[in-house]
Amino acid sequence: MALIGVSIWSLSNMKDRHPDYSADLKILNESSSELKAGFAAVPITPEVSDRWEDKNGDAKYNPGDGDTFTDGNGNGKFDPVWIAGFSNSKPANGVHDDTWARTMVIDDGKTRLGIVILDAIGFMHDDVVDIRKMVPEELGLTYTIIASTHTHEGPDLLGLWGKTPFKSGVNKEYMQFVKEQTVQSIQAAVKNIRPARLEISQDLTGAIPQVKDTRRPEVFDSGLRFIKAIDKETGKTLGSLLAWSNHPETLWSENLLVSSDFPHFFREGVEKGVFWGDSLVKPGIGGVAVYLNGAVGGLMTTHRSHPVIDPFTGQELLEPTFEKAAAQGNQLSLLALDAMENPLEVIEEAGISLVVRTLQLPIGNTLFKLATALGVLDRGTSGWMKMRTELAVFKVGPVSFVTVPGEIYPEIINGGVAAPEGNDFGIEPLEVPPVRDKMAGKYKFVIGLANDEIGYIIPKSQWDTKAPFTYGRDNPPYGEVNSLGAETAPMVHRNLLEMLKELGE
Ligand SMILES: [Zn+2]
Repeated sequence: MALIGVSIWSLSNMKDRHPDYSADLKILNESSSELKAGFAAVPITPEVSDRWEDKNGDAKYNPGDGDTFTDGNGNGKFDPVWIAGFSNSKPANGVHDDTWARTMVIDDGKTRLGIVILDAIGFMHDDVVDIRKMVPEELGLTYTIIASTHTHEGPDLLGLWGKTPFKSGVNKEYMQFVKEQTVQSIQAAVKNIRPARLEISQDLTGAIPQVKDTRRPEVFDSGLRFIKAIDKETGKTLGSLLAWSNHPETLWSENLLVSSDFPHFFREGVEKGVFWGDSLVKPGIGGVAVYLNGAVGGLMTTHRSHPVIDPFTGQELLEPTFEKAAAQGNQLSLLALDAMENPLEVIEEAGISLVVRTLQLPIGNTLFKLATALGVLDRGTSGWMKMRTELAVFKVGPVSFVTVPGEIYPEIINGGVAAPEGNDFGIEPLEVPPVRDKMAGKYKFVIGLANDEIGYIIPKSQWDTKAPFTYGRDNPPYGEVNSLGAETAPMVHRNLLEMLKELGE
């Protein structure tokens, strides 16, 4: 009886939440017209203190010590904000900086695109579709991308970081709040739309020293790429897109204050200027800065063993502190502001072309199957052990974009997929040629964790769960445990290349 109960409950957890949903689109526009852009930032910060429910105020919680919530009268209810990242059972102890839904809307008169970035570790496709269904039609959006910065210091929106691995860490009310605030952000960005000029700039080497690759082969995606949108009439900055690829986890695992990690300091520096103490060293550009992450798999990180140099004192900061995250933000802001002073291209007019594909990926990972069945991962399946996800490729004049629904290994994007001895399938690289080679634009942006978070997207010829292990390891490398399966990368790569061809690239 109990067994039947459990399996019916599992099936209801796995039920398709958006049957027949498809985002497929193909819009090819070779003509050029005036561009418009709008930006907005709406906070999605959780209320931390109000999570405490205690009738007589004698509840105590000792942060850092998993379970010591006590209430003398037994009246306390421990319902904290669980911080997503590193390990289970990390209750937030306060807020360091606001987390956001930041939006850029771009419009060529025919197509209106929304790009929303959430300060979240990830956001699943079912929830993305929920938001799209909530967006009022009169906003005229052709397509809306909802991606995550992948901060490891914010509230759980996926479910994997609750009190135990068997209990979702997502607070349903908070999830609803995030969805509503995201709609507000899109609405405000549309309201702020103005005729715009886009200035494109990049610094492909300056930020290399700030990232470590924790798994061979050593391939990075450490180029910084920027779009600054300027109001054609007033000359004021409307906003900017700041693209880089690194795990926002510089604060590492001890921090219990909600934060966006280094993207917070990066955005602040670009908007308001870079300060050394109270003195302004470099003025900011104003507007709303939107940080987006690229290929962070493999794994791109400012590991706690990896120093960041304070740009003013020259001091090497190793310990994961807010000081280190701020130094990193300052470094990135200085590189960005310098690059933006000499744009490589100014776009006055352009057309937007777009190809979107919905696809079904097999769930190969037993832990994911279990988490889905238990409802720890609150997402439906779209067929027996399949997940619906989405890819998009688009271009705005000479600027090309691809979106990836998770954490793709940079070698798939930039080249360098390896086939080390000991790989589980004994195969040569499949994910070739690299995606970026097939993007025709002069400037090539990758938006990772976009419209979904399906985990690591690992080249199949690097897949390694069985002995003998690659590179002479004694144990399997980290990555596969948080991947949908070995078929994911070849499918994502093949589809992206086909779509880029359809786009005419
Ligand atoms: Zn990650």
